[in-house]
Amino acid sequence: MSEKKEMKELVKELTKTQEEIRELIKAEIEWEPVGPTPMPGITDLRSWDMRLLKTYKPWYAPFCDLCCLCTYGKCDLTQDRRGACGIDIATQQARIVLLACLMGCSAHAAHAGHILEYLIDRHGPDKKIDMGTFIEVEAPNIRTVTGLKPETLADLKHAIEYVYKEIAHLLDSTHMGQEGSALDYESKALHASMLDHVGMEVADIAQIVGFNFPTSVADTPLVEMGWGSIDKSKPVILVVGHNPATSTVVVDYLRENNLEDKVEVCGICCTAIETTRYSDKAKVIGPLSRQLFFVRTGIADVIMTDEQCINTNMPEEASNVGSALIATLDKVMYGLEDASEMDTDEIIKRMTEKKEHFAILEPAKAAEVAAKVAMKLAPQRKKELLSEEEAKKLAEKCTDCGMCERVCPNLFSIGDGITEMAKGNFELMKGLFNLCIGCGKCEHECPQGVPIFRLMQAAASWETWKVRAGRGAVMDTEIRKVGAPITLGTIPGIIALVGCSNYPDIEDVAEMVDEFARRKYIVVLTGCAAMVAGMTKDKDGRTVYEKYPPDFDAGGVVNIGSCVSNAHISGAAIKIANIFASLPLRANYEVIADYVLNRVGACGVAWGAMSQKAASIGTGFNRLGVPVVLGPHSSKYRRLYLSRKEEDDWTVMDARKRELVDTGEPSPEHIAYVAETKEKAMIMIPKLCIRKNDTPQGRGIKLNHYISLYKKYTGGGLPEDLHLYIRRAADIPLVYRKEVMPYLEKIGWKPKEPVGLPTFIGTYPSKVPIDSVIH
Ligand code: SF4
Ligand code: SF4
Ligand code: SF4
Repeated sequence: MSEKKEMKELVKELTKTQEEIRELIKAEIEWEPVGPTPMPGITDLRSWDMRLLKTYKPWYAPFCDLCCLCTYGKCDLTQDRRGACGIDIATQQARIVLLACLMGCSAHAAHAGHILEYLIDRHGPDKKIDMGTFIEVEAPNIRTVTGLKPETLADLKHAIEYVYKEIAHLLDSTHMGQEGSALDYESKALHASMLDHVGMEVADIAQIVGFNFPTSVADTPLVEMGWGSIDKSKPVILVVGHNPATSTVVVDYLRENNLEDKVEVCGICCTAIETTRYSDKAKVIGPLSRQLFFVRTGIADVIMTDEQCINTNMPEEASNVGSALIATLDKVMYGLEDASEMDTDEIIKRMTEKKEHFAILEPAKAAEVAAKVAMKLAPQRKKELLSEEEAKKLAEKCTDCGMCERVCPNLFSIGDGITEMAKGNFELMKGLFNLCIGCGKCEHECPQGVPIFRLMQAAASWETWKVRAGRGAVMDTEIRKVGAPITLGTIPGIIALVGCSNYPDIEDVAEMVDEFARRKYIVVLTGCAAMVAGMTKDKDGRTVYEKYPPDFDAGGVVNIGSCVSNAHISGAAIKIANIFASLPLRANYEVIADYVLNRVGACGVAWGAMSQKAASIGTGFNRLGVPVVLGPHSSKYRRLYLSRKEEDDWTVMDARKRELVDTGEPSPEHIAYVAETKEKAMIMIPKLCIRKNDTPQGRGIKLNHYISLYKKYTGGGLPEDLHLYIRRAADIPLVYRKEVMPYLEKIGWKPKEPVGLPTFIGTYPSKVPIDSVIH
């Protein structure tokens, strides 16, 4: 074929793809003009990524400097060595980050795809998407990324199929001998993680519509939490994982058979939150870190697993305590016999008499079996827990050899706790329990067979707490109310606590929520972080959910929902740009992300050890311009996005004056930052809410919090970078004026002009015209 003809064919192919996209997103329906990047491919937002990465440079902390991904290796990548494929250590780290983000994105996308198929089967493809009276922008991520305005469940399928296609291309790039640039791998990780927010949004919209979860309401019920809330005299069904396709059917079965008050349904991890969005009788045991502890109490008669973040040794764990196990999803089968087609009575007989576990992928059958097996097993099972005397005796087996401490990822002094317990002092073990992530390595390693988990259980509190049931999307009416104060800075910021939150201390998350809600930030939570926040009480016995209002407003504490509900947090930031600032969002990602980065004072916090899903959730926030503060464990993900505040380029375009302005102001200073301690996080979070767009009043309020938290957590003085954030004297908080003025004089501070309409657009090569940021 001649070169000219080839080119013609290629153009035809590309044009056809564009035509297909326009057809898929129903471009002819002009609810908004179609923006520049409908269903963007890997390179369509690359220039935006490169602009972000110019200021927020990837910083790598290699965890392992060998690569064993193919059989040319293992390749030693230390010093300046390259692998057999030519890859260097930075690019390898970026590739591993991309892989982690892809795992997270795929987990949510597959969840979305599964739940969507299930709900389409149940309600038909034409089931209308109705998010309630107060939500018109029903799918901000889907609209912004794809250009599609989904009206039915079938429309959501187009969005998730787009995500699947992109995942395949991105995963392809991780094969040996492909991408050779760390920055391009980072751009791909940002792409994967943006897609994650689309996948999560598909999943949660489908769930809200298909299961009738709460929507357009703030004060969802307060639900009981903690294993002390379980009535163990009743049959108990425990659901673990993230996908409510089966747990909701269990609730239906119990309702239809008048068993709701006779059988306890409780959950761990996000399935717990999802189930309480469906039934106010369901209970939350707690986050992922409580999984093995609760399973090992043997209180659950039946354990039902679905997907993501489930202990992979569950069949053995269940057998050890005489619980029955049903795996309900194809992703987690544990090698069990698939009984989906087997006669129900036969399954029940084999589960109760032969103590066999099964995979049952048909939700109605799994629900019936779970209820019947739980009712049959419960009267036969002893649910006795260790008495203090028994615990003391078992602790005496410990020889204080230190093996458990060596394998503990947190290096806890477990031996000391156990030797103290043998002397009758349970306090050390109690403290340990609150810090422990529940990985079980210590017990596995103990040469004396000390049942460390059961000892911690004996020391642990049987206290119960309250968590607010997840409420789903933020209402458009709430966005209208807070849009101006957030962008002007008078509401100092939105703090989003997301992720698994398993460490360093169960009380850290509640303390952060309390600190920022008291200071009138808007605090939103999802997933295990939302549960952990409810596991601490104040001196009056109240959790943060009882202490603060549930509204998306200054001083509100809002449980948005499960992991997939994170899309409603990114969605809220997008809605501020769209509803408050009237920026069109249809296929207009770059403009929206630029608005969020430069004008919406928001900061994510992912505290503690976390899954790959948290990596993609956080990186997705980063591409949208939301900084994220990570807990100490997160350095294990090997990559941060950090600026060097005094050296980096803080030039923006003033869109009104059409002038480049070097602001010298690092706001926000980083977009992915690890805080080694809670104290460091408490100082960084308010700083990362500062935006160039703040009014003097708003900046004064934000600096007030930054200074006072700095003083509180360092013991005094002024932050050494304070001068960078003071544009004029009017920015200085009144209460600190006397202290700040002499400091400014001493360092030779000079006032500078605030930027009217700060934007990155116009500072890098982009198809987006500068006019598009003016609203
Ligand atoms: S992918 Fe490259 S660096 Fe890794 S083992 Fe193969 S050749 Fe070596
Ligand atoms: S490994 Fe076992 S015996 Fe050794 S210190 Fe830990 S609990 Fe004690
Ligand atoms: S279960 Fe807890 S104490 Fe044991 S090794 Fe894991 S983190 Fe450490």
